[in-house]
Amino acid sequence: KKLEQAHAKEDKPTFSFEFFVPKTSQGVQNLYDRMDRMYGLGPQFIDVTWNAGGRLSNLTTEIVDTSQSIIGLDTCMHLTCTGMPKKLVEDALRDAYNSGCQNILALRGDPPTDTEKWQATEGGFSYAKDLVKYIRAEYGDYFDIGVAAYPEGTDEEPDVDLLIEHLKEKCDAGADFIITQMFYNVDKFLAWVTKCRAAGITIPIIPGIMPISTHASFLRRANWCKINIPQNFHDALEPVKNDDMAVRELGTKLVADMCQKMLDSGEIKHLHFYTMNLEKATIMVLEDLKIIQPNTSANPPLPWRQSLALGR
Ligand code: FAD
Repeated sequence: KKLEQAHAKEDKPTFSFEFFVPKTSQGVQNLYDRMDRMYGLGPQFIDVTWNAGGRLSNLTTEIVDTSQSIIGLDTCMHLTCTGMPKKLVEDALRDAYNSGCQNILALRGDPPTDTEKWQATEGGFSYAKDLVKYIRAEYGDYFDIGVAAYPEGTDEEPDVDLLIEHLKEKCDAGADFIITQMFYNVDKFLAWVTKCRAAGITIPIIPGIMPISTHASFLRRANWCKINIPQNFHDALEPVKNDDMAVRELGTKLVADMCQKMLDSGEIKHLHFYTMNLEKATIMVLEDLKIIQPNTSANPPLPWRQSLALGR
């Protein structure tokens, strides 16, 4: 029976949630309560961010431990590798290992804001691919390793083709899956996926989805990440920008439609939501998509462990 349920579920799109590390102990408690509630929606995994430079790193590893070993959610720990002592990387990986966490999103981290151009530290890690290699060398296949990607380029490197070359290097270093930066232009995203495949990148690509809560935060985040906002988003949201409820409802429809388009493409089977530690906007999108599937022991394997992932 359980096997039948698992097979039935394998055909359904799956999803996951990102949470960031709160600044206060009350914030951490609120996060645990939220994780507990969102567990019931049936995410395949959750991930917990890491503050660049290792600030509050003990909170990241504590939250990973609680979510993995107490709440029982398959957890992915973000880990950056630059601008902080190598010992913090070693400690974080050991803590994750001891918690039973088996998934790491290996990142370089943003350069400090006061440095114009990125400078590697002597003897340390220079790029995310160095961290991927390090984890593989130290832990073999124990961890499944994810890496970040930017379908519309970054401030630091707007050349998307060059970024794909560097993404391929991260894959060749041993990455198992890719999570992307947020975006709203699905056509651009799907064209980028085709380019990645043509460049020989075969591992699962998981799109990062940012639900829309308010007009101001929607614009601020999109501008911050320098991503394209399709005209239909502007047309729908601009007239109601001062009505938070209307923005959320229309935003839900727009984001759910873009998710559906990706799922219909056959290329994408898993959606990763940037929750911003809030529930409502993400739940509204999931409800619109009708893909909430209460957690049971028959949940399908993680996206990068599914043989059917991306039809590959
Ligand atoms: P890399 O892949 O190392 O790339 C960094 C730059 O180096 C790129 O411009 C790349 O083109 C260039 N490069 C790579 N290889 C070479 C090479 N061989 N020669 C020359 N140039 C090269 N930040 C946090 O601090 N904490 C988080 O929790 C966090 N989570 C994130 C989650 C996701 C899904 C994403 C998309 C980003 C996240 N970030 C996080 C942000 C990330 O740390 C920054 O964007 C950082 O500036 C780049 O990290 P990276 O791992 O992509 O770097």
